[in-house]
Amino acid sequence: MKYDLVFDLDDTLIQTQAAFRHNVDLCSNLVHQALDEKVIINDIKEVFNKIDLELIKELGFSKARYPYAWESTLDLLATRFNIEISSIVNDQLQSLAKTIFKVNIPLQNDTFIIEELSNRKDVASMTILTLGEKDVQSKRVMDTGLVHHFDNVFITSKKDKSTYLELNEKLSNPVMIGNSLRSDIVPALDAGMKAIHIIRDSWSYDEIEHNHRIDSIKSLVEIKLLLFGNLVKL
Ligand SMILES: [Mg+2]
Repeated sequence: MKYDLVFDLDDTLIQTQAAFRHNVDLCSNLVHQALDEKVIINDIKEVFNKIDLELIKELGFSKARYPYAWESTLDLLATRFNIEISSIVNDQLQSLAKTIFKVNIPLQNDTFIIEELSNRKDVASMTILTLGEKDVQSKRVMDTGLVHHFDNVFITSKKDKSTYLELNEKLSNPVMIGNSLRSDIVPALDAGMKAIHIIRDSWSYDEIEHNHRIDSIKSLVEIKLLLFGNLVKL
């Protein structure tokens, strides 16, 4: 049986969550200083997370959202504590937040399997399906150094059932592999596709209620056994 393997990018192939966590640390420190240390770091992070998740409804996965969520966090807390924030500090916070789109995000440590799988054209085709803005996601795909192992790279502004129905048309036997129940697994299963959940360090947005029985793996290496069993020695 030949499978069209479709990989999510962020947190499936690269360590995006760790990179964001580091940037959140830097930004919350800057906000902490800007507010004369009147608000503890954890409270700043909590306010930021709430605003950021709320803004997804409005701004989705556009790159405007993350820096704007920081601007709103500082604005809200500064108003609450009656502290005036200079435009220099506001600009510093914006530049710091935007560095998340410029840094090189490290690969996950099990992505060596991508090369192995891509060498078996008789049993697997290779696709990346990633959610976000074209320039940011293209850069992240190129930074992986894995792009030559893939037959297709699709960048999409949404990952819902219709996205996977379209994908089903393009590929003959697709299997979605990703870390997000909300974006990768549940809508793919809803569209009648096969899906494999890879358990990774994720953010709360990725969780969702569902009634599906889900195949989960802890390493991409497990794809070999789960899909190809002992029939194929990769
Ligand atoms: Mg992901």
